[in-house]
Amino acid sequence: MSKASIESAMDKAYTNNKDVKEGKNADYIKELAAVDPNIFGIALVTTDGQVYTKGDISSRVSIQSISKVFTLARIIEELGPKAIMDKIGVDATGLRFNSIVAVEEHKGKEINPLVNPGAIAAVSLISGTDSATKWRHIREIHDEFAGERLEVNMPVYISEAGDNLRNQAIAHLLLAYGRMYFDPVQSTDVYTKQCALNVNAKDLAVMAATLANGGKNPVTKKVVVSPSTTASTLAVMATAGLYDDSGQWLYIVGCPGKSGVGGGLIAVCPGKFGIAAIAPPLDDAGNSVKAQKAIADVVNALRANPYMIQ
Ligand code: GLU
Repeated sequence: MSKASIESAMDKAYTNNKDVKEGKNADYIKELAAVDPNIFGIALVTTDGQVYTKGDISSRVSIQSISKVFTLARIIEELGPKAIMDKIGVDATGLRFNSIVAVEEHKGKEINPLVNPGAIAAVSLISGTDSATKWRHIREIHDEFAGERLEVNMPVYISEAGDNLRNQAIAHLLLAYGRMYFDPVQSTDVYTKQCALNVNAKDLAVMAATLANGGKNPVTKKVVVSPSTTASTLAVMATAGLYDDSGQWLYIVGCPGKSGVGGGLIAVCPGKFGIAAIAPPLDDAGNSVKAQKAIADVVNALRANPYMIQ
């Protein structure tokens, strides 16, 4: 992959998709409805630390569900891969990301750490005997993946915290089934705060590139998690990273991804690069319309699908 081929792939992906008008901002978190729907930025970071950007990379949006990846990685690093299988589950639920039925059906077992029930349980599992320590550890892992200090988008946090009864219900139901490992109210609150961390496309691309590089941040050179933690994390992303369209995404792009309702999307091309795009309008499955198209275009132009042997 030459510098020129990456630049040309990014230029084309930007130009071909910048006028796409489909999709709609998430509005079940009121503050997300007010985000500028025209934000569109793409960033790619190679495993040797080169950074490429196109479009708007100064605007920040809340990370939302993409944060679930990094909290998961920290738990696997702290407790080992088996703990996630035993205490949360790793199979896709086959149901909506905030499904209560998914919890009920298996009595709290088989909930996935990349959708809400499993993600709130994951926060409850992070080391720390109080919520301040858990939050510090969660923030720390996000900062290390990004290679910089990320800030909480307070309006988004406050908006969701005042309106997250469904997530609180999920947390309590998990507690009833013995699958919540800390206070459910505080776990939901820390989870909500993690979802409100603000990122731009470049931050997300560095985070994705750290996974593409086996857990070592290619920009700061810090080893954030081990190669084996990275492999386990990518496996869950491959099966559950794009809500109900995870299979379709893997079929088209081949690189494990994770989206968030703030409009961000990351994809990891192992050994090559991490890529991210931000564009708030979402499709019916909850994935950014433009970000999916732009990332798919770049990955395909660079023939970076890991299942395609050259
Ligand atoms: N904070 C959001 C929620 O719990 C995250 C959802 C998402 O990005 O999938 O509903």
